[in-house]
Amino acid sequence: MKVLKFGGTSVGSVESIRGVAAIIMDKKAAGEEIAVVNSAMGGITNMLIDAAERACESDATYKEVFAEIEQKHIDTVKVLIDIEAQSNIIAQIKLLLNELEDILYGVSLIKELSPRTQDLILSFGERLGSLLISSFLNQCGVQSEALDARNLILTDKTFGGAKVDFEETNYNIAQHFKKCEALQVITGFIGATDRGATTTLGRGGSDYTAAIFAAALNAESVEIWTDVDGVMTSDPRVVSEAFSLPSLSYEEAMEISHFGAKVIYPPTIQPVYSKNIPIFIKNTFNPEFPGTKISQGTNGKNYPIKGISTIKDVSLLNLQGSGMIGVSGVSSRLFSALARYSVNVILITQASSEHSICFAIDPKDRPAAEQAIEEEFHTEILSRKIDPVTVEENLSVMAIIGENMRHTPGISGKLFSSLGKNGINVAAIAQGASELNVSAVIPKRDLHKALNSVHESFFLSNHKTINLFVVGTGLIGGTLLEQIQRQAATLLEKQHLRLKVVGIARSSKMLFDDNGIDLSDWKNTLDATGEATDLDLFVEKMKTLNLSNSIFVDNTSSAEVIKHYYSILDASVSITTPNKLASSGPYVYYEQLQKTAFRHGIKYLFETNVGAGLPVLTTLNDLRDSGDEIISIEGVLSGTLSFIFNTYDGSVPFSQVVKDAKAKGFTEPDPRDDLNGMDVARKILILSREAGHVMEIGDVDIVPLLPEQCLNAPSVDAFFTELEKFDKDIETQRQEAEADGKVLRIIASLEDGKAKLSLQAVGPENPFYGLSGSDNMISFRTNRYDERPLVIKGPGAGAEVTAAGVFAEIISISNFLA
Ligand code: ADP
Ligand code: ASP
Ligand code: MG
Repeated sequence: MKVLKFGGTSVGSVESIRGVAAIIMDKKAAGEEIAVVNSAMGGITNMLIDAAERACESDATYKEVFAEIEQKHIDTVKVLIDIEAQSNIIAQIKLLLNELEDILYGVSLIKELSPRTQDLILSFGERLGSLLISSFLNQCGVQSEALDARNLILTDKTFGGAKVDFEETNYNIAQHFKKCEALQVITGFIGATDRGATTTLGRGGSDYTAAIFAAALNAESVEIWTDVDGVMTSDPRVVSEAFSLPSLSYEEAMEISHFGAKVIYPPTIQPVYSKNIPIFIKNTFNPEFPGTKISQGTNGKNYPIKGISTIKDVSLLNLQGSGMIGVSGVSSRLFSALARYSVNVILITQASSEHSICFAIDPKDRPAAEQAIEEEFHTEILSRKIDPVTVEENLSVMAIIGENMRHTPGISGKLFSSLGKNGINVAAIAQGASELNVSAVIPKRDLHKALNSVHESFFLSNHKTINLFVVGTGLIGGTLLEQIQRQAATLLEKQHLRLKVVGIARSSKMLFDDNGIDLSDWKNTLDATGEATDLDLFVEKMKTLNLSNSIFVDNTSSAEVIKHYYSILDASVSITTPNKLASSGPYVYYEQLQKTAFRHGIKYLFETNVGAGLPVLTTLNDLRDSGDEIISIEGVLSGTLSFIFNTYDGSVPFSQVVKDAKAKGFTEPDPRDDLNGMDVARKILILSREAGHVMEIGDVDIVPLLPEQCLNAPSVDAFFTELEKFDKDIETQRQEAEADGKVLRIIASLEDGKAKLSLQAVGPENPFYGLSGSDNMISFRTNRYDERPLVIKGPGAGAEVTAAGVFAEIISISNFLA
């Protein structure tokens, strides 16, 4: 004998009921002896609760909910059952529904809904279900009959979660099955007291019914048919990468279900465990898939843990006080008092100082728990030996579960480092004495992030998803997105790194997609489905999504965006950016950002601020981190100015060289933004700060390159007119230099703690002499590189190299976040 249980998800529609019948017919055809346990059609139990509660409030809309329940069943019959058999079945269904309607009406009159009445109302879901399924099976040629489990399962009168009297129940079941020929389609979830009052076994209780029947009949196995491929490493609705487990021990299954995996109702394990009957969890919508076998012992030691479960809502209570130290019996008094008030304790931790006991409960039990404690410790609280109990709300429990944990060190370390790196605060920790689980109490808002990141670190150890939020899709941003798209497959294959662009914002529109925006068509998607850009909203949304391993990429040069950096880092999101404004703005902000990133164990990186894709800041930091000391820095730091001075050889006037550079797009729209030296000043400031100097932009000594009239000209055209007047001067400077065998370069330097930039004439012995095109060059003199400085040279501007620099930083952050 096998007992097959079909959950609400498996009997929720005409198609799924047909699927259920096919599974049953297959078993029958194979000559197997089976019994079937059914749930209410999917969603019906919730609707019954809804109708009952509305009726209790005398809210006439309960009738609408009732009508919906009625409609759903009648509609299903009309499609499922052949026309000639319909009226008979509809009559039976109507009979049940009339009774239900009367009860609801009664509730609406007396405005009272006792747990006892609620159980009676809920029983209609399973009763209607078994009628429907057995009728359809008969039509399919499988002789079957609906069996009302209330006639066999005897319980106490704890309505809503009744306890089973196994002796009586087992006897009843065995007796009943002795005499029945037809396939029994048994109502799950319900039982009755010795006086015939209807009871339920708790939400999800049909699983339990199946186990009760299996144990009573000494069945060969129980099959729980649901809508997923078995017990999975985590809830697949929350963790898209969860996968199904081939096998679990009874103990593991118990832990996983206790910690919230809805796929199996926790009490289900007990009756079959004692008789060593295996449970198979199977998918009605994928019947060929083997699913999960739950049985004695485990096999397969592939992963140190088997699964991650969660309890969404808990409250954490803390009892503490000096009067608790060394006093025996406090915890036993506490937990006895809680038991008296029927408060179920989910998790307990006690500090070794014995100064406090912390425990988690269902938030709905909070008033009862507070009252129990108040009563039990009344005198101690009055005499201040024990403090009034404190309560923390909006928390969840996340538990990792598995037998192999017992033999594997470092499991908790992995769990907590994954939580820590994602900025998730742990309010309490507990490890089951059996070492079958480690659970952490965390803020409810972080649950999704926690589940995904912990799942990733245990089950996909060499596979990581990085969530990117990209602001600015101009030249650099656009190129970056292109580069990411081109490289995505290789990164996934070679580095097991999945870069998911979850948010994109440009000046007009912004777009989010948790599953990752398709980068082959992001422009059209953004135009077609994006909403108007609002930076505050973008950042808010990013924080609310609260995804693990998030990186914010600012490809703008906007002063608005940098205002958000602090709050972004404070939300444990790393930043990479070519935007110089934050790292060259007020020192306090620069420092605050660095400290915030450090505090949260994340990264704030801006390598592309200096020398675009060249590894300038990384080298500087590596030198300092390894104990070297920076003596001086010199550099040609502007690709634009480099281009202008490397091209200017006297063959055309200086102003013409600038005009050409502008026409080629090498300068800012107003070339003075380059020629006024500010851009270079910011870069040498950033270098100085990274070299350890506390400095502001005003401290950089800029020897003006151009006369006042040029810099103050009212328009770009006027500027060029003024610049022409300056052609002669600069040509003189160039010729003088040339006469000495030298060339003109704009050189930024840091020496003796002073930052400066000026136009200098340099000879062939100087490394800056040979620069060409838009090359940048930076030389570091350090304690180690004293005689010959360390020199970095290469293209220091351009969208391709800058975007590549940002990309490299994204990957370096990803590796760090592992
Ligand atoms: P049924 O109606 O068949 O009893 P349930 O909704 O009660 O189905 O349980 C199945 C659901 O349990 C799945 O759809 C899934 O979302 C959820 N679930 C939660 N945790 C897990 C897990 N670890 N493995 C599989 N499913 C899980
Ligand atoms: N129908 C009941 C519920 O929704 C029992 C079950 O599905 O297991 O809780
Ligand atoms: Mg269920």
